[in-house]
Amino acid sequence: MNCLFCSIIEKKIPADIVYEDEDVIAFKDIAPRAPLHLLIIPKLHVSTLNDLEEHHANLAGKLLLIAQKLAKQLGHAEEGYRVVMNCNQGAGQTVFHIHLHLLAGRLFQWPPG
Ligand code: AMP
Ligand code: ZN
Repeated sequence: MNCLFCSIIEKKIPADIVYEDEDVIAFKDIAPRAPLHLLIIPKLHVSTLNDLEEHHANLAGKLLLIAQKLAKQLGHAEEGYRVVMNCNQGAGQTVFHIHLHLLAGRLFQWPPG
């Protein structure tokens, strides 16, 4: 399987990794849309949110908790931050290994464009 984010997990492709544990890795987005733009991904390959199953529930929850912890650690929790997961092309998904975007450091419009 040829997956960009699996290659980053396997350290075959470099990334600016800010967090790693046995289940999850987080690294800086190569084309940041905000002063802080991290991607938080499971080490398990799951292509899209549509492919997430009941037994992934803990892992999916962990992605959110790591987003919260990183936002706090990096000083963005009080001002606010946004987490986004795009599912499939219509929502803008371009890398088909699920990832949570953590964005902070500027104001975000709501609703999104
Ligand atoms: P999405 O469009 O939701 O699938 O998000 C994919 C994200 O991956 C985009 O924000 C890209 O800028 C980012 N991206 C693509 N290639 C890399 C890479 N090699 N390292 C870090 N981020 C990447
Ligand atoms: Zn993958």
